[in-house]
Amino acid sequence: CIAVCPCGALSSNSTAIDEVWAALRDPKKTVVCQIAPAPRAALGEEFGLGSVDVTAKLVAGLRKVGFDKVFDTVFTADMTTIEESNEFLGRVTEGKNLPLFTSCCPGWVKYAEQFHPELLNNVSTCRSPQQMFGSVLKKKYTQDLGIKAEDMFVVSIMPCTAKKYEAKRPEFMTDGVYDVDAVLTTVEAARLFREAGIIFDSLEDSAFDQPMEQATGSGVIFGATGGVMESVIRYVAGKLLNAQGRVDVEFTRGMDDTKIASLSVNDIKLSLAVVNGLAATEALIQKIQSGELDVHAVEVMACPGGCVGGGGQPCQNDSKARQTRATEIYNIDSKMVLHKAQDNEDLDKIFNKYWGGCCNHETHHDLHTHYHPKRQIAGNDIVIKDAEGPEVT
Ligand code: SF4
Repeated sequence: CIAVCPCGALSSNSTAIDEVWAALRDPKKTVVCQIAPAPRAALGEEFGLGSVDVTAKLVAGLRKVGFDKVFDTVFTADMTTIEESNEFLGRVTEGKNLPLFTSCCPGWVKYAEQFHPELLNNVSTCRSPQQMFGSVLKKKYTQDLGIKAEDMFVVSIMPCTAKKYEAKRPEFMTDGVYDVDAVLTTVEAARLFREAGIIFDSLEDSAFDQPMEQATGSGVIFGATGGVMESVIRYVAGKLLNAQGRVDVEFTRGMDDTKIASLSVNDIKLSLAVVNGLAATEALIQKIQSGELDVHAVEVMACPGGCVGGGGQPCQNDSKARQTRATEIYNIDSKMVLHKAQDNEDLDKIFNKYWGGCCNHETHHDLHTHYHPKRQIAGNDIVIKDAEGPEVT
């Protein structure tokens, strides 16, 4: 029922395909696409290819339908890892606002705003990778191209219907226009290709555009439950333990709805939790609030299995399909040359060029956000009213 959907997903399920076609036909628009991690392991199912990595064909298809630039949301997943890991380490040092809850999943963020406003200071202030990319593109990349934010149309290919709602949150705007103009689910991306008459499996492979081309395995695994936590652990192990090789984490992986483990970093002992599905999330919150469980950080994904099982992914979207896609996500990660977020040299250059580095006042302005207790949704519009208590920043 739309009226009670706690995630905003059901209030924003209309397709944006016609808007995307209109933008692609508009000569005044520079039309840019970003591709989330999870669709690359599922889109092939729509074309009889199974749950295999179709990233290069997806990029080629988007170029063929007319996108001017195609970028990888994995780039800003790496950005999220760096901003969020440093936020986490800062909170551990200060002993403040712990446990930190991740903020990549708009289904979870809306649930927290609606049902747990007392936790909003614990939710990471990082924008999701989708919204970080939107902000980078509209606030900064437009300047590189010498165009206004209103002349760029940003489309996201996402596994998720709640991402449509997230893109319409009023705080995610630049110069009066949304940072992300349209969100297509994995299934809608397949429909876009069919409408264009594209034979998907005969497309020649194509690569992402520069200057934000590099991506790491850490960003790819954001597509499955446990991936954000593993990315943070990889980053922290590299930064604090000077780990040079691969850091593969076992406890975060797999489809169990709740995973908890402790690890020691130098003389700090950290207890970490990963949950997927809102029932498991609520149960975990109850344990934390009753004092039964003490953890420093919690990764939350609203969908079973994380984004591989998102509401915009192809049917069959059952536990077997989710597991198969997650396995492919980790296969992709295992083959990638770059492993930890800090290995991404393009990202390092972008941090320096746009904000003079990472994790500073400037990145906080452009890449972080704030939350509203009891945010209201009316149709496709988000209305901030009847908020109980002050805005939380
Ligand atoms: Fe969207 Fe589900 Fe992923 Fe959350 S877990 S971001 S609701 S697909």
